[in-house]
Amino acid sequence: MQRLALFDLDGTLVDRSAAFGDAVTGLCAQHRYGADIRNWLLTELADRAYADDFARLCSTFTLSESAGHLWQDYVDRMAASVTCHPGVIEGLTCLRAGGWTIGIVTNGASDIQRAKLAATGITKLTDGIAVSGDLDVRKPDGRLFRLAATRCRVRLADGGWMIGDNPSADIGGGHQAGLRTIWLRGRPWPPEIPAPHQTVDDITDAIDFLLTTRPE
Ligand SMILES: [Mg+2]
Repeated sequence: MQRLALFDLDGTLVDRSAAFGDAVTGLCAQHRYGADIRNWLLTELADRAYADDFARLCSTFTLSESAGHLWQDYVDRMAASVTCHPGVIEGLTCLRAGGWTIGIVTNGASDIQRAKLAATGITKLTDGIAVSGDLDVRKPDGRLFRLAATRCRVRLADGGWMIGDNPSADIGGGHQAGLRTIWLRGRPWPPEIPAPHQTVDDITDAIDFLLTTRPE
């Protein structure tokens, strides 16, 4: 099996939730929005944000600002606030030094996911990035895993590992794509999803496992 490691982004390599609160607070302060808009944003964008959400925001609250401008403001604020989980940059650097090919498979809008990857320094440690917005297909759809492998210039059929925190998208999707899987525990495990090959407490443990695993 080749040394390919595909990583989820939000909740796996980076802490989206802390950045999200900061971005919404900053955006509301900048535009002098009150608690109604702040609560709407915190609810509607809790899992993921797209440009269309800001068009909905403008129509819901009859705002005069352009939705495109607000979206760009939000993207910039998320990129400025988001941070890697401890040990991520060092861990990815060690994997690369050990001959691993590193890819990202993430659901989300292409511009915001790439802005976060660039701002955290992850981009330059990866061989290929596949964002669901690139293809309009989302994990667990196997096409997104294939795109990541292609962009890493490897074949998905030669195997590898998928590492993520979402049972269905990351572990179910990775399993269907023929990959071994490492799950970062935290969410309830749905019984219909095949068990991960490895379960860990955090990303540092996942990377340590990869660094010590032997290719077959
Ligand atoms: Mg995730």
